[in-house]
Parts: sequence; C-alpha cells; structure tokens
Amino acid sequence: MTASTSVAPRSSVSAAVDAAAAAAPGWAAATPGARGEVLRRAADGLEARAEELALLITRSVAKPIVESRAEARRAVTILRFASSLGAAQTGRMWRSEDAATTVLAVRGPVGVVALITPFNFPAAIPAWKLAPALVAGNAVLLKPSPPAAACAQVLAEALLEAGLPEGVFRVLDGDAETGAALVDDERVAAVSFTGSTAAGRRVAEACARRGARVQLELGGKNTSIVLADADLPAAARDVAAAAYGYAGQKCTATSRVLVAREVAGEVTRLLADATVHTVVGDPEDPRTVCGPVIAAAKTHQVESALRGADVVARAAVPEQGDRWVAPALVRDPAEDSPLWRDELFAPVLAVTSFDSLDAAFATVNDAEDGLATGLYTTSSAAVHHALRGLRSGVVAVNRPTTGLDAHVPFGGIRGSGAGPREQGPDSLDFYSEERTVYWREQPR
Ligand code: NAD
Repeated sequence: MTASTSVAPRSSVSAAVDAAAAAAPGWAAATPGARGEVLRRAADGLEARAEELALLITRSVAKPIVESRAEARRAVTILRFASSLGAAQTGRMWRSEDAATTVLAVRGPVGVVALITPFNFPAAIPAWKLAPALVAGNAVLLKPSPPAAACAQVLAEALLEAGLPEGVFRVLDGDAETGAALVDDERVAAVSFTGSTAAGRRVAEACARRGARVQLELGGKNTSIVLADADLPAAARDVAAAAYGYAGQKCTATSRVLVAREVAGEVTRLLADATVHTVVGDPEDPRTVCGPVIAAAKTHQVESALRGADVVARAAVPEQGDRWVAPALVRDPAEDSPLWRDELFAPVLAVTSFDSLDAAFATVNDAEDGLATGLYTTSSAAVHHALRGLRSGVVAVNRPTTGLDAHVPFGGIRGSGAGPREQGPDSLDFYSEERTVYWREQPR
C-alpha cells in the first residue's frame, strides 16, 4: 500500500485523481462516526510518533525544535478535534410558503478535493485541511511544498495505519507544476490552498475558469499597534517574539509595529534590546528562537531591502552563510519600500509612530492584505473601538499575532484569504455542499 508517490505532472496527477475518484463513493457512504474513528486512531498513532515528527519538521524546514514539538502536538489535537465534527454536522429545516411542503437543507461531501500547502507548517496546515475534508466524506489529494513532503508522508502513514481505505488519501510529491496540474483537473471538485498571495491568485483563476470551489489562505504584512497605556516592556517582548520567531516565516508573523508617538522612543529602545538578544542558532537547540531561513534567495532579497534603511538594531548570526538572516529592527522605512509594503517572510521588523488611533487603524484597514493585527492597550474603550473599526481576519489584544488556537476559525480578509474559514466548528463547510430539498408527501 503506498501512501505517497513521486509524480511527474499531468499524467500521474491524472492517475492519482482516477484512484481518488474511485475511492470517494465508498468513503462518502461510511458513517460520520466511522470516519471520525479513523481520525481518532490516526491522532493516537501520530501522538506516538510526535517526537519523531517534531525532529523531522526541524530537519525539513529549519523550524526551532520547541516550535516543532508544539506543531506536532497541534497536528494531533487537530485530528482529534475534527474527528467528532462529522457526527455533529446537522441539517436545517424550514416550513415552506406551500403549507404541504417541508424544506430541508442537507450537507454531503463534494467528491475529490485537492489540498495545496506551504513549507512553513508542514504538519499542522496539512492536518487542518485533511481532517475536516476526510471527516466530511471526501477523497483527498495533498500536494505539500517540496521541503514539507516527508512530514506529509508521516500523516499519510498515520491515516493508513488507522484504517483509512486505500485511495481515499494520497500525497502527491512535486512542485508548482504538479499543483497546477491538480488544480486544472476537472474531477477535482474543490481546492484548498495555503501559500503566497501570487500563487494563490493563479490557483483562484484556474478554479474560476472551470467553476471549482476554492479556499485561499495567503500572505500577510501583519501590524501590531502599541498604545501609550500598554504594558510597554511586555508588548515589546511579544512583538519581537512574533517578528523573529522561526525567522519571521509565519503567515501571522508581525512585521510592522505602530507605536503611539509619546512612547515611540521608549518602545523602540525596548524592541532594539529584544532584537539584539534574540537567540539565533541551530534549530535543533531548544534555546533557539530564530534559525536559518528556508532558502538562500530570501537572504539576498532581505539584505537588498535593508540597504539604505535606518537599521536600529541587529542580532548576531552564529555563522555567515547564504541562509542566515540576522534579525533586524528598522525605523520609519518609506511607505513604498519593501520593508514597509512587502511580506518579506524573514526576521525583519519595521517600527514607526502614530498620532491618533484612527490613523493607526487606517494603516491596517487600507492595506491590500488583512491577516492578523495586534493591539496592546489597557483601555477597554480602545479595544471596543478595534472590535468595530479594525478590519483584519484576526485581532490579537495584548497577545502576539502568532500562536493561535486550533479549535476556532482562522483566516484572512482582503488579499489575505477567500472562501469559508478554516479550522473551528465550521471547517467542514468548505468540504461539503448544501442541498436544499423541497418535500411534499403528494404532488398537487
Ligand atoms: P508558495 O506559494 O511558494 O507555495 C505554496 C504551495 O503552492 C506549494 O505547495 C507550491 O508547490 C504550490 N504552488 C505554487 N504555485 C502554484 C500554482 N501556480 N499552482 C498550484 N500550486 C502552486 O508558498 P510558500 O513559500 O511555501 O509559503 C509561504 C507563503 O505561505 C507566505 O506567503 C505565507 O504568508 C503563506 N502562508 C499563509 C498561511 C495562512 O494561513 N494565511 C499560512 C502559512 C503560510
């Protein structure tokens, strides 16, 4: 039994879709309880391999081991959480305008679904897509990022060992071309994509051309706002951790911080201190907060963006080399500079000041992206204002923008995402279609 296969684009993708399409009806006919039971057993199997998986995450994508352990545990939690969602899924019922008719809305699986995932959460993101997709009764094809493929394989093994029927889940190794072939296949009814905004837009266009369902979770240039009444040392610690942890390679990483003008000097000093004290080193060392970045090209992009910038503080790197980016704090970059505008996906934090809360909110609300925003304050009035006026997929009050829960909805707005939310109790919505049934006992 193979859980994964190395595929050449198009023809082999087509064969994998054939197998998934053949397996889908049988899995759809299983009860939600039976499907959930497979996920529960897979969670147990994964839990037994959690340390192995954590080490694999670290070695595959250079994530600091403490974070990899948390991610492996999170993947287990996600499978357990989703396992009961199928049984909890209910229909809806109305009385019709025609007194003899009852109207029902029932949900069923969509068929074959494709999951396309990025490098940076090689276990958690595949898990939070595949778990609701399988529980809803679909056959699933997962196309992970190439460096994340071995971690996806561990998930596949846990599912197969838990008794998932052959063909219901398969990992397709390959790059963007394999992903594109999958997205183009007419038999793939739905595509859930997490990755860069540029690639996500191409996926959305391909899905729109043939009318497939699509869910997108994309990039973010996330901002934290620090008010003068906040606990400033704690806020600076949080913001630095959210900016530099895992070398800034989280979609929810903070890359801009807006500070109330009257405390901007103090907060910049606190951030500078946190920057130089960031522990940069070997990702297998439990003390490490920031390891190397995923690819050398990133280092060159960041160093070129930093040229000419007001760099307030930089951490030290343990060695020179193509994949090391020293965490950097920059002050007041130009609004059209990549430091302010682009998701660098690197340990770089830009700090600037603001004069009014509305101006700070406008910086967030007017951005093309809208994933996660932090707000540090002790004022409930300011939080109330944010509840009404801050337009961001996630708002974190007195918390870092990173490190979110697995059992609540997650997703971006504007350029950061599209489609129903991932995770949480409604995560099956994307992976199921609602059918409205008008039911009379007898024709008129
Ligand atoms: P990426 O866009 O390079 O790749 C993501 C996946 O898409 C990979 O599997 C890749 O092979 C595939 N792919 C690329 N082009 C494709 C195409 N045209 N058709 C089909 N598949 C294609 O992203 P990455 O570098 O692996 O990950 C980093 C990005 O992911 C960042 O922008 C980050 O913000 C984003 N991200 C978002 C979230 C979120 O939930 N919003 C979570 C994690 C990462």
